[in-house]
Formats: sequence, C-alpha cells, structure tokens
Amino acid sequence: MLIDTHSHINSEKLKDELPSILDNLNTGVVGRVICPSYSLDSSQSSLKLALSNDKVFCALGIHPENASEWNDEVKDFIEENCINLKNVAIGEIGLDYHYNTDNKEMQFKCLNEQIEIASKYDLPVIFHVRDAFEDFFEWLKTNRQKFKKGVVHCFEGNAEIAQKILDYDLNISFTGLITFKPRQDIREAVAVVPIQKIMVETDAPYLAPEPFRGKVNRPEYTEFVARKISEIKNIEFEDVEKITTQNAYNFFNKMREFDDRK
Ligand SMILES: [Zn+2]
Repeated sequence: MLIDTHSHINSEKLKDELPSILDNLNTGVVGRVICPSYSLDSSQSSLKLALSNDKVFCALGIHPENASEWNDEVKDFIEENCINLKNVAIGEIGLDYHYNTDNKEMQFKCLNEQIEIASKYDLPVIFHVRDAFEDFFEWLKTNRQKFKKGVVHCFEGNAEIAQKILDYDLNISFTGLITFKPRQDIREAVAVVPIQKIMVETDAPYLAPEPFRGKVNRPEYTEFVARKISEIKNIEFEDVEKITTQNAYNFFNKMREFDDRK
C-alpha cells in the first residue's frame, strides 16, 4: 500500500471523481490520503472529509499565499481541531514568493503563529516553500528547534537544496514533477535523499505525473511517483512502497494511532 501524503481531494476540480477516488482507497495500490489545507474554507472541508472516511486524514493550516487570511477566528478554528483524531498535521504552511513578495512580513507572521500551534499540540508540519528557500533556510536557523517534525512537500529544487533540508533533519516529499522530462534537477535531488527520508504525494488535482501530465491528478497516480523513485534510486518498487509508507506512518504518527486502534 502507498500513501498519498498530500492530495487536495476536496478540490472542486475533483468533485465528480471523489466517489471513485474514495472507493479506490479500499482496493487500489494507494490506501490512505492526507488532505492538507490552505485556507479556513479548505481546513473546514478537509476536516469534514477526513471525519467521513476512515482512509482519509487531514492537515489544517493557512498557505502563505493566503497569509492575509490569518486572524483570531482562523487560529481558534485550527487550535480547537488540533486534538481531533483525524487531524494529523499542521499544513500546508510556509513561504511562497512566486506571485507575491510584498507581503513577506505577513507570511512570516502566519508561519510563526502556526508553528506555535504545531508545537503546542505536538503535531508535525507540512511546509510549502516556493521560490523562497533562501529565507526558509535563514528562518530555520532560529526556528528549527521550535517544532519536532517537518516535511518539505512538493519538493522543487536541486540536490544541493535537498541536502540543506536534510541537514535540518526534515523530510522531503516528491510529486509527479520528478517524472517531467525537463526536471533533471529534481531527479538529481531524489538520488541524494536517503529513502528513509522520502514520502510520496500527488498534490492532486495539480501536477499529474507522466503519462498523465496536463490532466487532472488523482491519488492513484502516486504509483507513478513511486515508480520513478524506484527507477532513479534503483530500489525495487515494492521496497519503495513499503519504506515510504512506513515513513508516512512514522511522520504522521496520529494516522498510525488511528489505524492501530481498529
Ligand atoms: Zn498542496
């Protein structure tokens, strides 16, 4: 069984396909999905979805692009639901300078206050970092000790950046980007990251891996990410499957606790 550790299956874009996606979690190669959040709305809907299905878990949080949304109401909602069994992490949170660099102060405030919540409730953190690694590493220098576990999701960088992330004892999660022909840089990163630090994800509905590039992505396609890792690292697919799933259970320990009690 594979775990899609980052999949927005509550997206409008997957509305019609959601019943079949949930069905396939019982029979397909992908057996668990973690549905992260990026806004108050999406936090409410991912929690609702997680509570309605045993195989779906959620993470609550405000994405850096929505940093202006951060306020006491949002903070209260996230805090109140941190103890929920199905909420297994804080995320996705971080820094994103792709479209906007004039709200950095707000992005840091949104990030820092959510890190406080993660620390208070002892939850792992899902980081979204886009075009902002320099500031992220600077931030880690003084903030790494504030949280226990973190993963940089949808990794989009080279081997050198991957190594720096490992130096801070964070995990790295790869998407279908590693199957895109021009992204040799990310495949080189896959090559240097020990399999014990790797998780797999789709980031659905975006970034469908080859041979589905350009189509709407779905959790089942995690298999193509795992197959590419198997090829790059020359590790049997079954071992990539077993180890990355183990990694996900270790990282998202509330998911393991939930599954163990059944
Ligand atoms: Zn995402």
